[in-house]
Amino acid sequence: MELSEFERAEPAHLGWTDRGDVRIVWKDAHESVYPLAYLREHCPCASCRGTHGPPTTLVRQSRGGLPIVQRQREPSMEVKAVVPVGNYAIRFTWGDGHDGGIYSWRLLRSLCPTAGGGADLLPLAPEN
Ligand SMILES: [Zn+2]
Repeated sequence: MELSEFERAEPAHLGWTDRGDVRIVWKDAHESVYPLAYLREHCPCASCRGTHGPPTTLVRQSRGGLPIVQRQREPSMEVKAVVPVGNYAIRFTWGDGHDGGIYSWRLLRSLCPTAGGGADLLPLAPEN
């Protein structure tokens, strides 16, 4: 049986962008950047899977008759800690203390917002 691209996914580098997004460079040189809110929305833990994510506050204001939707930054969109889980995953501790989600490399690769093109970033040389 052939492993899928996601099952083979392993990060060569894990870090943060200047904006505070999570950045993973994979061993196949693909680069993924994950905004924290995006990762929290896709938290794979049992309690989040049912509700499809944390509370996201949408505020509607009327200004000149046009509805304006603002997304408020919630404490839960901050990351306090990133902990490795074995050699296959990482776990985030969020600002609200939530830490139930284990993000396997396979999951992260499948969540990659830039999968399927659109990434115009140059692949980085592997770090040794
Ligand atoms: Zn969760």
